[in-house]
Amino acid sequence: MIRTTKKRAYVETYGCQMNISDGELMEGLLEDGGYEIVSSPEQADVVLVNTCAIREHAEKRVLGRVGQLNGLKKDRPDLILGVTGCMAQRMGESLLEQAPYIDLVMGPDGYRSLPGRLEDIEEGRRTRPSRSSKKRGPQLAVLDLSLGENYEGLVQRRASRVSAWVPIQRGCDHRCTFCIVPYVRGGEKNRRPVEVMREIDDIVASGVTEVMLLGQTVNSYEADGWSFPELLRAVARVESIERVRFMSPHPKDVTPKLVDVMAEESAVCEHLHLPLQAGSDRTLKRMLRRYSVDGFLEKVALVRDAIPGIALSTDVIVAFPGETEEEFEETLELLRTVHFDEAYMYKFSPREGTPATRLPTTDFVSDDEAQDRLERLIDMQRAIQSEINRGEVGRIEEVLVEKEARGPNQILGRTRRNKLVAFVGSPDLIGGYHTVRLTDTTGATFMGELLEARIPAVSP
Ligand code: SF4
Repeated sequence: MIRTTKKRAYVETYGCQMNISDGELMEGLLEDGGYEIVSSPEQADVVLVNTCAIREHAEKRVLGRVGQLNGLKKDRPDLILGVTGCMAQRMGESLLEQAPYIDLVMGPDGYRSLPGRLEDIEEGRRTRPSRSSKKRGPQLAVLDLSLGENYEGLVQRRASRVSAWVPIQRGCDHRCTFCIVPYVRGGEKNRRPVEVMREIDDIVASGVTEVMLLGQTVNSYEADGWSFPELLRAVARVESIERVRFMSPHPKDVTPKLVDVMAEESAVCEHLHLPLQAGSDRTLKRMLRRYSVDGFLEKVALVRDAIPGIALSTDVIVAFPGETEEEFEETLELLRTVHFDEAYMYKFSPREGTPATRLPTTDFVSDDEAQDRLERLIDMQRAIQSEINRGEVGRIEEVLVEKEARGPNQILGRTRRNKLVAFVGSPDLIGGYHTVRLTDTTGATFMGELLEARIPAVSP
């Protein structure tokens, strides 16, 4: 059949940077497959919900959203509704049973075949219409994990014209006992450096000057004899690249060699995300994090000695099974000691299939207690962050403007140290690096005053 009008697809993404990057990859694949990407599900013939499985709460939210999107099928029974990503991989065919109106579940290793699988569904509908009133046709599950799939050669459809996310690694070889990632994304798979560098060249040619290298444990990267510090240095030295960031490193692979590259290469930003998870040795051991509190503090000292003033952010989980009040207080103490610029804080969320769920149920911390710990941690960290940021008011910073802000005539950007700054300015400044004085802070973000505008790196 010759199509006279393009089919339209909409991808809605939840979760981490890797997932958002996967969403861009799916959009690229769909575009390549002849689809037009649209910005709302109401306009689309194919709606994909790209999901996260890290926390139960996130999964429940997504299930509610998928149910809501099913409402679109009332007027358009031909609509294809798919669920992709980590939750799709985790729940697999049970998701199709639980929600029979879903046409496709696809895990992260199946994306390469996405356009073909959508065609299979359409073909199946033509030749094998379902008798069930709840289904329009056959459902499809694409759930095989692949040892080699690193998405090489696929082109992302990048949402931002200011900053580009570049996945250099997929999956994870660690087995932190709370984490579902290795079970839904498989083992670590690294892209070839030659391919990564080719992509960076394409990004630069498109006018983008900031890149974020992505991987589940990005600094354990190793391929074709290149280590992560070597790749980072090569990316930082590409002409026209002004800023390089990376996410998410594992503390155990923060080595002197990596820190040297961060200190020596001017394009590498003065910000490091260093996921702590817990501040007690006993809990860290039971989480299988592969570092001790002292080891973590040594990494902090190594980084701060080499790069004075570097901003540090972290992740913390409270109420891991068996965590005592004293152990939780050790986490509070460690956060007081390190003084992180930012922290992402969560209650432990049991994920079926992970080792932590097999701990004795008597070890599980009650939800009230977990909530109480989380609130105490958030209160303390907010005070620390606010104190740090108040001390930075008055600084003059280089800000890369990303988008318009909510306030009237305001634009929003980031400093090299990853601090968000809103200031009065024209949208013409988006994509440019500008000199801004930090005039005030809400505690978490800054207000600023434009001192000098540089010509935008990309036209808005
Ligand atoms: S390092 Fe641990 S927390 Fe991070 S993705 Fe791997 S298993 Fe999960």
